[in-house]
Amino acid sequence: MYETVIGLEVHLQLKTKTKAFCGCANSFGAEPNTLVCPVCLGLPGSLPVLNKKALEYALKVALALNCEVKEFFKFDRKNYYYPDLPKNYQISQYDMPLSINGYLEIDTETKNKRIRIKRVHLEEDAGKLIHTPEYSLVDYNRAGVPLLEIVTEPDINSAEEAYEYLVNLKSVLEYLEVSDCNMEKGSLRCDANVSLRKKGSSVLGIKTELKNMNSFKAVRDALDFEISRQRKILDGGERVIQETRLWDAEEGITISMRTKEEAHDYRYFPDPDLVIFTVDEKVIKSIKDTLPEFPRQRCLRFQKEYSLSFYDAEVLTRSKYLADYFESCAKLYPYPKEISNWLTTEVLAYLNEKKIPIEEFTLESEKLIGLLKILQAKQISRNTAKDVLRIMLDTNKDADTIIKEKNLFLISDESDLEKIVDEVIKNNPNSVNDYLKGKENAIMFLVGQVMKQTKGKADPVRVNTLLKTKLKKGGDNA
Ligand SMILES: [Zn+2]
Repeated sequence: MYETVIGLEVHLQLKTKTKAFCGCANSFGAEPNTLVCPVCLGLPGSLPVLNKKALEYALKVALALNCEVKEFFKFDRKNYYYPDLPKNYQISQYDMPLSINGYLEIDTETKNKRIRIKRVHLEEDAGKLIHTPEYSLVDYNRAGVPLLEIVTEPDINSAEEAYEYLVNLKSVLEYLEVSDCNMEKGSLRCDANVSLRKKGSSVLGIKTELKNMNSFKAVRDALDFEISRQRKILDGGERVIQETRLWDAEEGITISMRTKEEAHDYRYFPDPDLVIFTVDEKVIKSIKDTLPEFPRQRCLRFQKEYSLSFYDAEVLTRSKYLADYFESCAKLYPYPKEISNWLTTEVLAYLNEKKIPIEEFTLESEKLIGLLKILQAKQISRNTAKDVLRIMLDTNKDADTIIKEKNLFLISDESDLEKIVDEVIKNNPNSVNDYLKGKENAIMFLVGQVMKQTKGKADPVRVNTLLKTKLKKGGDNA
């Protein structure tokens, strides 16, 4: 029996206006090599200056993850040669990081678990290589973009826990509004260290490092694969090799990239251009005071304040944007459970289907509530409401306009409906007979016929009652 031991390293790009140590713009998608200067290119004589905002964001994350902020911290040069690193070193933090010893709570199947955070430190990103069959290009726009490295202790014991940790971490980071946390754009990147050891042993097994995973699902799949790969090796009496492996999502396997012997041996030394930093207690306190209500707290509050289930509260609060949206609706309409149902099912299904990020869901809460009020007044059926919502999401029109345009209001005139019911009774003698002979289900067919005739604009419950009344009368007369 083995125990899985996983540690995760997350790199997070901070969305500051400018880079970590110079005034170049920090933005994604600009023409290559247009956002560069002597500092981020490391030209001789240039001097880095720490971006105050980057430090503030880093402190926010550190405090949100319950870390201790160090009294003194410094920056070091991590030396290695790589074409996307114009200085031949990366400014990072080695033995005196910004913050250490934090934790993030996750929910596992059986319990609530704390994943300890070893350190959160600030560094700069490297440039980007673009390979074509004939040549390689380099874009230095990303060089010098502020990056946070968030490293856990090896406290994670399954691929599922790793996934939970990442989902929770991302949610906290989104609440802090310090990064767009977009894995596809590379603003959130994750590496994992995995090893197995005999259950009960306190000695760590030989680990592999997994890279190249660009979604949380990929992390989970890669870990699952790697855990079973290592188990097979150990079961066969062999030894796992310490190496870096890449996740190949298409094949669903990890492949060896380099073994330990080939691994970089970084030489770190203090960056002489950057002094040792201290952060005033007052600054730390003022940042602490600005920390928002976090997803877990908000989830608890939603359960209490709006009487929502844990599931609903969790789905709503995982994204700050959705939680804010829900609360703006709840101010307009005193039926939180109904609002939650529409958001967690219809709206999320629509966004999912169209691959629209939640943040780009811009239907005003007034419009959604407008629809719910029409539904509540029984002017449309629930199914019609679902169709109308989709049109609203496509067109941003309000519900009333769409319902009028498409003539979707339920038939409110009783005599109109009676006429149709009479007609259906007349045209379907077999079903009528079946019903009168005691086949209760035959009524459903007749209801269906009326709904068809009215193009769904009748209230099925009303139709059902009306049919039964009429048939009872007819039956009594026969
Ligand atoms: Zn620059």
